[in-house]
Amino acid sequence: MSILNVEEIRQDFPILNRLIEGKRLVYFDNAATSQKPVQVINAIKNFYETFNANIHRGLHKLSQEASEKYEYAHNLVADFIGAKDRGEVIFVRNTTEALNLVAYSFELKYLKPGDEIVVSIMEHHSNLLPWFQAAKRTKALLRIVDITNEHKLDYNLLEEVIGPKTKVVAIVHMSNMLGTINDVRKIAKLAHENDALVVVDGAQSVPHLPINVSDLGIDFLAFSGHKMLGPTGIGVLYGRRDLLESLDPFLTGGDMISSVRCGLDGKCKIDWNMLPWKFEAGTPNIVGGIGLSVAVEYLKKLGMSKVHEYEKELTRYALKLLDEELNGNIEVYGPKNVDERGGIISFNIKNMDPHVVALYLDEFGIAVRSGFHCTQPLHERLGLNNGSVRASFYIYNTKEEINYFVDALKQIIKSENY
Ligand code: PMP
Repeated sequence: MSILNVEEIRQDFPILNRLIEGKRLVYFDNAATSQKPVQVINAIKNFYETFNANIHRGLHKLSQEASEKYEYAHNLVADFIGAKDRGEVIFVRNTTEALNLVAYSFELKYLKPGDEIVVSIMEHHSNLLPWFQAAKRTKALLRIVDITNEHKLDYNLLEEVIGPKTKVVAIVHMSNMLGTINDVRKIAKLAHENDALVVVDGAQSVPHLPINVSDLGIDFLAFSGHKMLGPTGIGVLYGRRDLLESLDPFLTGGDMISSVRCGLDGKCKIDWNMLPWKFEAGTPNIVGGIGLSVAVEYLKKLGMSKVHEYEKELTRYALKLLDEELNGNIEVYGPKNVDERGGIISFNIKNMDPHVVALYLDEFGIAVRSGFHCTQPLHERLGLNNGSVRASFYIYNTKEEINYFVDALKQIIKSENY
């Protein structure tokens, strides 16, 4: 008996019936974006068919309904990640925007020349470039912590690097290339002992692991709705209330103020709106927020511990099969121990370009990603100048699909060699 009822789950995802080149789709590109269950698709349709209106701007029924659902979506997300209340949950477009928001607002308030920002070599470009830019503008120093030979964060180095000059530690929770899960609780403790803040890129962890921000002791957390069964164009920045209150908004305009008074002399007195609206300028992605809340309810019902356990089972199975069946023709990256990683397996087939492998797999109806996966510095650190192939799992994937995938790789290797 499997931990999740995958047969039942698969019924909720109509796209899984799609045929690719006459073959049933095997979707192993979940780290890029997940598929959407009918519950989310129907919620989006229902919004446009029955209560589409702008929020916070009308007294009419439709506007009230849309506002209520959109606000309640923040409550559901707050509960899902263990935030105190919806004031700590800002809806943005995606992880990238959330990380830019925090890096920019943090820079304005706290960074000065000589300060240090600590990241790791396994960061996605989204958690590297905003900090690089902030460091460049303020003449702060960006310090990049290396990984060990086992493809884990080098905690000894991290301890050496974090010090009195550190103002912020920005770290990925689960690497989207190695699958490595970083010990953010330990990192937060280290950072706080040095009066630094911790920003966590949860793009790959929030969809797959139980997360509780207060339990982890982190200050900010960024993630995307589209990787956790929700629609595209909606993401979340969690921030500790006192910190969000101390920061100035990144975007200004409608809905993020409680009052604007300007005289003809050009002098203005502006009061920001209460949290989280202070950081949500302009008409937000209302339907996206509502769609995300339905995705969160879906995941909650399955139970995030079960989701994680199931994906561990798939990963353990896939790693074993790849090792046993591919006769040393494959190089797999990331920690060997499945307790230290998530359901992301990046690899290369010996003497084959990763894009060629991905194209071959597509002929079998198997969707994977190839290239740098927005982690070029990490690939270069590993000497992988052409990138890698990445297979990533979610709740609807099965061991049968993994068997088919490993068989396909065997055929690809055979056809290339003869
Ligand atoms: N960080 C990580 C670890 C990711 O995997 C991704 C998505 N590949 C991102 C950030 C960026 O997410 P988005 O494109 O939704 O902003």
